[in-house]
Formats: sequence, C-alpha cells, structure tokens
Amino acid sequence: MKKLIILLLLAVLVLTSCSPGLESHTVMGMDTFITFTLEGDLPDGAQELLWKYEKMFSRTDPDAELYLCNSMEEHTPSEELYALITEGLDICEKTNGAFDIRLGALSELWDFTSDTPAVPDKSDIDGALEQISTVTVRDGRVKKNAAVKIDLGAIAKGYIAEKCTSYLKENGFDRGIISVGGNISAFGKDENDPWRIGIRNPREGKSTIGYIEVCDGYISVSGDYERYFINDGVRYHHILDPKTGYPAKSGLISVAVISQSGALSDALSTALFVMGYDASMELYGSGVYDFEAVFVLEDGTVRTTPDSGFIPN
Ligand code: ADP
Ligand code: MG
Repeated sequence: MKKLIILLLLAVLVLTSCSPGLESHTVMGMDTFITFTLEGDLPDGAQELLWKYEKMFSRTDPDAELYLCNSMEEHTPSEELYALITEGLDICEKTNGAFDIRLGALSELWDFTSDTPAVPDKSDIDGALEQISTVTVRDGRVKKNAAVKIDLGAIAKGYIAEKCTSYLKENGFDRGIISVGGNISAFGKDENDPWRIGIRNPREGKSTIGYIEVCDGYISVSGDYERYFINDGVRYHHILDPKTGYPAKSGLISVAVISQSGALSDALSTALFVMGYDASMELYGSGVYDFEAVFVLEDGTVRTTPDSGFIPN
C-alpha cells in the first residue's frame, strides 16, 4: 500500500494542460507511470520501445542487459547501452561527481523501491561507497571492477522519453506530451500556444507552484518528495549524495531542468539537486551545458535561471 501511495504522488508530479483532441494513455513500466498524451491511440511500437528499454536499462532485473554488464569486469554492450553509460560518465565528470552512475551498490543498499525501506548501517554505507571506482569506456567496451554496479536510474527515463518522442514524430504524431515518471517530453507547439507544464508544490500534495511554458523540449523534476520514507522524524529520500552515501542535503527540495535533451534534463535535475543552488548556478554560468532550471529551496522560495519560462501561480 505504501508503495502505491508513493507511485501515485509521482504521477501527479507534473500536471499538463491538455488541448482538445488529445487523449491520455497510461502504462506501467520502469517501476513508475508512463503517460502519453497524443492525438489518437498509442501505437504498439511505442509500447514495444518501452519494453525494449526496460530490458536494457534495469539494474535489478537479472534478464536485463545492464544487469549482465554490472556482473562483469569487461563487457561489450549494445550500442545504446554503451552510449548512455558513456554519457552518464561524462556528466559525472562535468558535475564534479554530484551525478554518479557508479553508485548502484549504494542504491541497492538503500533500496527505496522496497515496501519497508530502512536506514542502512553506516559501515554498510561506507562499504558501498568504497565500491565506487573507475569505469572505463573505450571502443564499445565497458571495463570496471565487477563490484561496481552502474545505476542509470537518474538518466534512463529522460533518455526513453526522448526515444519515444522520435518514434512518435516518425510515425505521424505532430504534437504531444510524454511523461516517463515525471520526465516530460513536450513537442509540436509554437510560441503563440505553448504547452504549459505544471510544477508540483513539493510540500502540498496536488497543488502546483506555477508552470513552465515550452513548445518543444524536455523537463525533468527531481525532488525529495518522490520516493522517501520518514524515520525518527527525518526524511530519507532517493537522491543520494555520492560523496556522503546519504540522501543529498543541499538546501533544495525540488529542481526542474529544461533542455533540448531528455537524458540531460533527467541527469541534470538529479545533479543540481545534489549540488545545491549556488553550485548549480555556477554550472549554469560556465556554459558547459545549455539548460534552464527552476529551484525550490527548503523554505519554499522559488528561484529560476533567466530564461526558464517559469510562470509562478
Ligand atoms: P526519479 O527516478 O524519481 O525520476 P531521479 O531522476 O532524481 O529521480 O533519479 C533518482 C534515481 O537515480 C535513484 O533512485 C537512484 O537509482 C539514482 N541516483 C540517486 N542519486 C544519484 C546520483 N547522485 N547520481 C546518479 N544517480 C543517482
Ligand atoms: Mg533525474
């Protein structure tokens, strides 16, 4: 029951305003809700894509390709898995380790998807942190210590949203919205009539703090209210600080990132959440990545980058 409630909260993370003629289709996958808002029925090919990626990127399914890769010291994965691992490692470097796909052993330890999550022992956390070590990607091969478990949980859903968007565009869908567990792709509008993507109030159930206007782009939200449990009055959420091994405490409770890449929006929303507001704005100013963001601070204050397109309530 507890798990169900957490998933339902996730589903209303981002509220979309719908235009006439659009239908919503919701399917389950990757331990979350995936919603397509389209003109017409959901084509079988989109569902097949979801199944394909679920079998590629799962860290926990013994039949998944990533699971196999994680169990080995050297592996030649499919081109897509190789590319996403490579991109993940690159973002890890550019965010100074705030985003780190090598923390699978730590995610496994915290196990936020379990029905009875608990705070692990400090010694086990230290042990999991020790398992984060070099992963080398070269000529299509992934090399690492077999103990290193790669976790694509903070980048794969955005990537999948992007792949589904390309598929739908190729198959005659001119406009629509896809939400893969809160990672949104909104496509096919113009500036006179943009999509409005509502950003949920991190502390007040179903209300929003405002919305982001977007014509074509990707929005991902990471927050401390998506998957969490409370123990002795302390909130433990699923975005981990790879430096401490504990849930990130950066002064932020929610970050939305807008960019032209689904994978980047997803990964950066996690990274900025871990980095905090000041370091995020430094990354923004450095121009390493082209993105906009909306931050909600612990005291409820909302801050945005200059061209975020955010309109408060
Ligand atoms: P969600 O999966 O709810 O959309 P995120 O995109 O922020 O949220 O991803 C969180 C997931 O990513 C966690 O469940 C975990 O598997 C993994 N993760 C947690 N912290 C980090 C981190 N600092 N860097 C990379 N991956 C992380
Ligand atoms: Mg993310």
